[in-house]
Amino acid sequence: MRNLRDMTYDELLEAVQAFGEKPYRAEQLFGWVYKKLAPDIDSMTDVSKAFRERLKGEFVVSGSKVLDIKRSPDGAQKFLSELEDGSRIESVIIPETGRLTLCVSTQAGCALGCRFCMTGKSGFTRNLTLSELVNQVVSANEILGKDARITNIVLMGMGEPLNNYDNVLKFTQVLTDGRGFGFSHNRVTLSTSGVVPGIKRLGAESNVSLAVSLNATTDEVRTKLMPINKKYPIADLLEALRAYPFKGKRHITIEYVLIKGLNDTLADSKRLAVLLRGIPCKINLIPFNPFPGSQFERPQNASVMAFGKVLRDAGYMVMIRMSKGAEIEAACGQLRARYDGA
Ligand code: SF4
Repeated sequence: MRNLRDMTYDELLEAVQAFGEKPYRAEQLFGWVYKKLAPDIDSMTDVSKAFRERLKGEFVVSGSKVLDIKRSPDGAQKFLSELEDGSRIESVIIPETGRLTLCVSTQAGCALGCRFCMTGKSGFTRNLTLSELVNQVVSANEILGKDARITNIVLMGMGEPLNNYDNVLKFTQVLTDGRGFGFSHNRVTLSTSGVVPGIKRLGAESNVSLAVSLNATTDEVRTKLMPINKKYPIADLLEALRAYPFKGKRHITIEYVLIKGLNDTLADSKRLAVLLRGIPCKINLIPFNPFPGSQFERPQNASVMAFGKVLRDAGYMVMIRMSKGAEIEAACGQLRARYDGA
């Protein structure tokens, strides 16, 4: 049986035509699956009973099992989902003024081993399917209940989205399709550790917002923090960002996790200002969130402010992101799908 939440519009159209049904049925089904978030085929009440029965012979609508929800005093909610093969992933709902953002995982685990990241420490299991990506949005809306709905999506949870390119691209398509979830492009942000070929492909094939986790101003420090830098060093990454097609007026978000004594000096901030010249970007500074066993420390607030000031004085838009959810290990780099319950 195929999960309808694994199907793009074009795939649904093909399936509908194979059933000998009119093409408009594809739009109808797409709306039920991704807009109305129908829990099963029987809920699709304006589809004829006879067609629903035929659909049920080949398709199901299937969700993921939410095993645990942790709520942080700052309002963030982290939920742990179990997938059909027993793999576990985490997602985080982050309330901010005027919006509810869902941080989605794209892989079970991650192979890239960034040293400031708890997910990277637990290794890689596999890529998530389209339905497993979609189910995180469905579960989040169920957790929020009738009165609230996710308004923004960031692909910034467990995993490197561009290493699961095909499923992630399909996910961004169903998210931004007005017949489906209907998110506007600038409310969906993909965050990458810097997979250069994926960035080039994404620029050509999608219109969602891009965030890049940079975290250092020299190859020596970046390679120490992010082994992927050996494959795609800073110069190659910045060249890809300079060539990125900026559809509309949007910026790339540069994420920079500040780690005490490693990448947080004024010399670093001055170098960063030079490196990013010519790239339409805003810079998110994220003071490191220590986790059990991490060997890094969070910098003093005064040095975070001083780092940001150098960049602001150089003309950049700078946000200092005090990560939400740190108390429940839901802040940036802290997801690892651990479950202590039964
Ligand atoms: S920061 Fe992202 S890319 Fe790096 S190990 Fe963690 S999940 Fe993977």
